This record gives sequence, structure tokens and C-alpha cells, in this order.
Amino acid sequence: MNIYVIMKRTFDTEEKIQIDNGEVVEDGAEFIINPYDEYAVEEAIVLRDEHGGEVTVVTAGDEEAEKELRTALAMGADKAVLLENEEIEDGDTFTTQALLAAYFKDKEVDVILGGNVAVDGGSGQVGPRLADQLGINHVTSITSIKIENGTASIEKDVEGDQMMLEVQLPVLVTAQQGLNEPRYPSLPGIMKAKKKPLETLDLDDLDLDEDDAEPKTKTVDRFLPPEKQAGKIIEGGTDDQVQELVHLLKTEAKVV
Ligand SMILES: Cc1cc2nc3c(=O)[nH]c(=O)nc-3n(C[C@H](O)[C@H](O)[C@H](O)COP(=O)(O)OP(=O)(O)OC[C@H]3O[C@@H](n4cnc5c(N)ncnc54)[C@H](O)[C@@H]3O)c2cc1C
Repeated sequence: MNIYVIMKRTFDTEEKIQIDNGEVVEDGAEFIINPYDEYAVEEAIVLRDEHGGEVTVVTAGDEEAEKELRTALAMGADKAVLLENEEIEDGDTFTTQALLAAYFKDKEVDVILGGNVAVDGGSGQVGPRLADQLGINHVTSITSIKIENGTASIEKDVEGDQMMLEVQLPVLVTAQQGLNEPRYPSLPGIMKAKKKPLETLDLDDLDLDEDDAEPKTKTVDRFLPPEKQAGKIIEGGTDDQVQELVHLLKTEAKVV
């Protein structure tokens, strides 16, 4: 089977993030594989081990993303592709989808796995947009996938409930938490990953002009939520507390 993973390098949102002039300060930020994409890589490896074929991991980004691609290779993916695009600044979902669609247009695909959402951009658009562009089925937010005779039986998370679907291949799916437990790269895996193929393609290789991938949206600002004020503990007996609370709601919070 031809299995692909679309994978994003993101900054680690568990770490402290600094914003300067509406941009995330990348110096000193920790970068990781988007956590939902780790589920996608894991599931791709499991499907390959069960059905044969190979797993190719594809990232649109800059050369820094080679590190995360090597991590996916160390987990067990067979090949990696970096769609590099230094010419385009401020790319958006459309840009990413355009680069990916150009890459996939001449590929024989059985399954493409991606993440449900990127923990930084958070639009959840890239997977469905790409499937639409390629004219293939897609199912978002999956928690299980089994493939037999060209049909994928899928469980999908719907706000905590499950929906069961059967879909013909080729299909693009996006991974939800609970799909699996991603493996850590082993030491032999890390050694092997150094020798696995990592191909870099630019806009010319993809037969794309800059205009074909120009962003359709502009981010005008980014800011962190305001710091939380310390809470206030009201002392005294219940009657006093209630009186004080009502007083504060009127005079400080001004909500009654
Ligand atoms: C040329 C270029 C320039 C960019 N410039 C900027 C910039 O200046 N500032 C900025 O903040 N962002 C930039 N980006 C990032 C871009 O805005 C996001 O990658 C894009 O909008 C995806 O949206 P999202 O993060 O909401 O992903 P979502 O749609 O939430 O992601 C869902 C899933 O789609 C897949 N996916 C998402 N992004 C990628 C990717 N890059 N490669 C492969 N798979 C992916 C993953 O499987 C992911 O889990 C740039 C991207 C490109 C390609």
C-alpha cells in the first residue's frame, strides 16, 4: 500500500511562548512534530506492517523541519519529503494545501494520514482541503481504522461519541487522540533513519509558481491571553461572605 503522512513541525505549546510584534519568537522555542501527526505516523507504520508497502512522510516547511522528518523516519517511516518554499512568506492554509496538492498530483495513493488539527495554527483545514483538491474521500478525527479489500472501516470521534463509517480507498483521514499510543524512536531506529531517503523539493520541482501558492489570508495580529489576576478569598461567616460577594460584584466586577 502507498501510505503517506502529512506532518507539520510546530512549536511546543507546552513550553513558554514569547510573542514579539505579533510573531512567535522562534529563537529558544522548542519545536516538535505536531502531536496529532504523531498518531498519524504511528498508524501509518501499523498499517504498513499489516498490509505491506511503504510510508512516506511529507512536510511543507523550511530546512529546520528535517529534524522532525528524521524523527518520523526513526519511528519507522520509510521515506521523507520536504516541500521547501523560502520564496513564500506568511503562507497560510491555502499555501500549505497548494504545495501538498502539487506534490500529490502524480502520486498513486491508498491512504493519506494527517493530524486532526495543528496545535499552533489550529485551523484543522489542511487535510480536508487537500482531499478535496485531490478528489478523494476524507474522514476527520478518526480513532480507529481497519482496511480490507480496498475499503476502510473507520471509527470517528463526534464530540465524545463514535460514528462508524466505511469508505473506499483512496482516503485521507485525520487522527484524533485515542487512535493509538505513538512509539518512541528506538536507538537502532535513530541510526537507521540517518540513511533513509529525505528528498527536498522546491516550487520548480513541484511545477508551481509563487502565485499558485500565494496566501489567501493575512494574519493581522497575535497576542497571548491577559495574565490572570490572583483570586480573592472572602472570609467570615456565610451571611457576611454573601454580603461581601454581592458588594464586590456590584462595585468591582460591575456585573450586577
Ligand atoms: C510556504 C509557507 C509559509 C508559511 N509562512 C508562515 C508564516 O509566516 N507564519 C506562520 O505563522 N505560519 C506560516 N506557515 C504555516 C501555515 O500558516 C500553516 O502551515 C497552515 O496554515 C496550516 O494551518 P494550521 O496550522 O491551522 O494547520 P491545520 O489545518 O490545523 O493542520 C491539520 C493537519 O494538516 C497537516 N499539516 C498542516 N500544516 C502542514 C504542513 N506545513 N506540512 C504538512 N502537513 C501539514 C498536518 O497533518 C496537521 O495535523 C507557512 C506555511 C508555508 C507552507
